Amino acid sequence: MQRLSAIGLVFALSFNVTASAATPVAPGIDLIAGEFIPNHQPDGNSILFRAPDGLIVMDTGRHAAHTQQILDYAQQAKLPIRAVINSHWHLDHIGGNPRIRAAYPQVRIYASNALAGATKGFLADYRKYLVDAIAKASDEQRDSLRDELAIIDAGPALAPNEIVSQTRSLRIAGRRLELHLEKYSVTAGDVWVFDPATRTLAAGDLVTLPVPFLDTACPARWKSALYNLAHADFKLLVPGHGAPMQRREFETYRSAYGNLLACTASTKLKAECIDGWVHDAGALIAEKDRAFANSLLDYYVDTSLRPEPAKAAKLCGA
Ligand SMILES: [Zn+2]
Repeated sequence: MQRLSAIGLVFALSFNVTASAATPVAPGIDLIAGEFIPNHQPDGNSILFRAPDGLIVMDTGRHAAHTQQILDYAQQAKLPIRAVINSHWHLDHIGGNPRIRAAYPQVRIYASNALAGATKGFLADYRKYLVDAIAKASDEQRDSLRDELAIIDAGPALAPNEIVSQTRSLRIAGRRLELHLEKYSVTAGDVWVFDPATRTLAAGDLVTLPVPFLDTACPARWKSALYNLAHADFKLLVPGHGAPMQRREFETYRSAYGNLLACTASTKLKAECIDGWVHDAGALIAEKDRAFANSLLDYYVDTSLRPEPAKAAKLCGA
């Protein structure tokens, strides 16, 4: 359970970003930023696309308060939520699906089929960890652990009814979007979205700050996915966690990622590779988040970048 308790550590060390209402990203596209607060698990960013027939929501957050912001946005805009696109199955991106479904029973949910495998593997392990943790928890910790368990136990309400099994251009709610599928990158199936009308790219957790979140990742295939993102004709890229990026900032991220993999594949010391990331990513990491970035990578180098071969093979689909 080292892996799971370390995720707890990650969250305990989480940094502060103030809660925000929706902010415009491009014409007809708004961002509800995911929140990180200390001792609280994160929400991923949610991106709202206005379409002729209603709203398309990319990722639904984890906590009720985050998902409520999405529902409030839809109500204020007087637009029904017609579709959800989940970038991947991590709970900070799909946790709001049941609430959106309850409010909009006709909603179509687009995602890869990777949740099915995770339900039997990672999420089954995590569920056992939560049941055990709830039994031992203090009163103040118990509620958030129970909320987490309730998300997993929502089961089918989390799952897609439109499986993305290949890259394709689709008309969703009357708006054309390209849905791209990457296999065995951050998870076994990651979806990223390119909006040709505004040249906006929604990357999901293929781009995260202050470090790549490698818990369920195949690092080498993630690098290939970043190559694919680089070849999309985007003007602005919205990451899964962190602020929107211009192309030059994305290239800084991609090159820092490549250097991190090269460093950890060499005999260089872990500290050197961590310093390299913080240096290469440079201004993408706010000064106040540098210590956090260090602590995250201290964990990820051992568990994901210099992993046990069996673990690496499994996450890379071998
Ligand atoms: Zn995430």
